Amino acid sequence: MIVGKLKPLPEIVSYISGFKNIFIVGCGSCVTVCLSGGEREVRALERELVNPSLYDNNAPPSISADTFQRQCERDLVKSYLQVPAQTDAILSLACGAGVQTLASVFEKIPVIPALNTSFLGALDEPGTWREKCLGCGDCVLTYTAGVCPIARCAKHLLNGPCGGSSKGKCEVSRDVDCAWHLIVERLKALDRVEDYEKLQSIKDWSQDRGGGPRHHERFANAPFE
Ligand code: SF4
Ligand code: SF4
Repeated sequence: MIVGKLKPLPEIVSYISGFKNIFIVGCGSCVTVCLSGGEREVRALERELVNPSLYDNNAPPSISADTFQRQCERDLVKSYLQVPAQTDAILSLACGAGVQTLASVFEKIPVIPALNTSFLGALDEPGTWREKCLGCGDCVLTYTAGVCPIARCAKHLLNGPCGGSSKGKCEVSRDVDCAWHLIVERLKALDRVEDYEKLQSIKDWSQDRGGGPRHHERFANAPFE
């Protein structure tokens, strides 16, 4: 899922100061699951932002709020998101894709991000999400026993570990697992440790970001139909 973190309150206040009517919109998908931009967080932020002492003129904007199921779906947003008539800025708690979708639909209303979109991750333990994927476009998990060396190795090494690996930890921090240590351990568990020695063909980086923004067309790659 996409993991985001709420921006610091003073930063959000600096963005919305000067607007009279703010419409806060949460998103009911990834950011709800990672407890940063769902209904609960929308209500909590709404309660905070009406505090006059946060504003230089002691005059908070009037605030209304809602949570929308998927802010990143333009057709849904266009058809179903009802923005109050007097709104002069939208404060979105979605990821960057959701914020940009709202901006493309509501062309005349400023859309302000309330989250910092952080990474593609998974819940490792209650309350802790960790980065797992960088969306490189050419997944190598088959060869790396289901552990991503692009996202989880600090050097993105395709042949590791480097000399900084020690006792299973990465040289960047003793709190960070060495991805290549994890790969080797998992290969052992799968009884495939000989795969570690196999040469892999050069990774196809043409599907990564070098060619500009990527896109996916549903019907261009539908082998099961
Ligand atoms: S190899 Fe690429 S697509 Fe696969 S998990 Fe890693 S970054 Fe994501
Ligand atoms: S210690 Fe492991 S995870 Fe860290 S940079 Fe080296 S190979 Fe990558």
